[in-house]
Amino acid sequence: MKKAEMLATTAEHEEAIQFIRQKESNARTYARTFDRMIARGSLSRVWDVEGRGYIDLLACAGALPLGHNHPEVMEKVRSFLSSGHILQGLDIATPAKLSFVEQLFQTLPAAFSEDARIQFCGPTGSDAVEAALKLFRIATGRQGVIAFHGAYHGMTSGSLALMGNLGPKAALQGWTGQTHFFPYPCDSRCPFDVGGTAGEDLTLRYLDNVLGDPESGMSKPALLILEAVQGEGGCIPASPRWLRGLREITSRHDIPLVIDEVQTGFARTGTMFAYEAAGIVPDAVVLSKALGGGFPLAALVYRKRYDKWLPGAHAGTFRGNQIGLVAGAATMQILRDHDMPARAATVGAYLKGKLQELAASVPCIGDVRGRGLMLGAEVISVTGGGVKNALDGDLAQAIKRECFLQGVIVETGGRHGAVMRFLPALTITRQEIDEAMQRIRAAIDICLERHESASLALA
Ligand code: PMP
Repeated sequence: MKKAEMLATTAEHEEAIQFIRQKESNARTYARTFDRMIARGSLSRVWDVEGRGYIDLLACAGALPLGHNHPEVMEKVRSFLSSGHILQGLDIATPAKLSFVEQLFQTLPAAFSEDARIQFCGPTGSDAVEAALKLFRIATGRQGVIAFHGAYHGMTSGSLALMGNLGPKAALQGWTGQTHFFPYPCDSRCPFDVGGTAGEDLTLRYLDNVLGDPESGMSKPALLILEAVQGEGGCIPASPRWLRGLREITSRHDIPLVIDEVQTGFARTGTMFAYEAAGIVPDAVVLSKALGGGFPLAALVYRKRYDKWLPGAHAGTFRGNQIGLVAGAATMQILRDHDMPARAATVGAYLKGKLQELAASVPCIGDVRGRGLMLGAEVISVTGGGVKNALDGDLAQAIKRECFLQGVIVETGGRHGAVMRFLPALTITRQEIDEAMQRIRAAIDICLERHESASLALA
């Protein structure tokens, strides 16, 4: 195999990708659809080694809030790298940590941060979720957890137990214990088939009843965890009204409310944190992805009164990624200075409008939903098999793949993988959105044409 920088022809690049594919685990995910070698990136654009350009509407699952290689963040990182400061530091105090903690506590809503403590975690969202499980089990002396249908909180054993999607758990019997799943409201696909505020009220009433029922079969849980906008579950936003109801019920039953802001946090949904839209104060927030400004970092921030665990209760080697602290602090400063929550709201409304126009002009796009720059569009079957708005995961996968070939990176998620998910950098321009939408439209047309020819061949 030639050295990476020596690869020249398309055949050599394909051989190199094949080499990685053969060496890599069968559990690889994104690399299956996005099967080219991506080399360079600038904000919302990336280029592969052969120079083909792509508009990135995924931003590493939201881990790049300002996009690839944001110049101000990179400048801070470069000057830090040449400063001689240590780059890893377990969990000891450093100047980088000081600036970061100051920034984070200013960025979090005051009603929560003034009474909060932070636990730095191993640098993944999953590890911060594990920390939440541990902390609240220790602090309450209880074991069970309430999570929601459609939830995604990570892939480690504790966080996986909270996942709605049965797929990744199917071969892991016994990893799902202690979690009680409750319905999450969804207007367009209401679990009670009523939608709107009536559907929301039913989910709340059911939860409240179970918690108050001495014969529910469920003992009082250590915590209730949720995403204020479900991400991997198919981009389903909870209304502020429902979140307020949930806060009221959890407070009344003395159950710590943990909001997983791993994907929604840091301006993505049009407010700095998604739960802020409801004006509630949670007992903890789980943070990762955007937290490190594109570098690995994760943390659990929680109300002081729960700080009942003992020294070393959630130790871990890589909890002091100084580059992540520097990039994260720089990113938070930019998010605040440039009012990026407002930008996410207005540019998100623009993208949502374009997706709604698309839904009106092609037969295979159904419900368009989400908040700010966290949006989803359902892919529905064009034949339906007699079912109105039937989700079509196969078509969604085909569209995702064709989008990539047309130069747009977009991910799918949700039930049957049938929701196209849009999580672009918050710096994306309207022009880039227009360009991406043209390519997405072309990709859909190709897929529908192919679909039609396949149906004709079968007839
Ligand atoms: N929580 C949420 C809401 C997430 O979206 C994710 C990742 N998609 C996680 C937790 C897990 O984060 P990580 O992949 O970094 O472990």
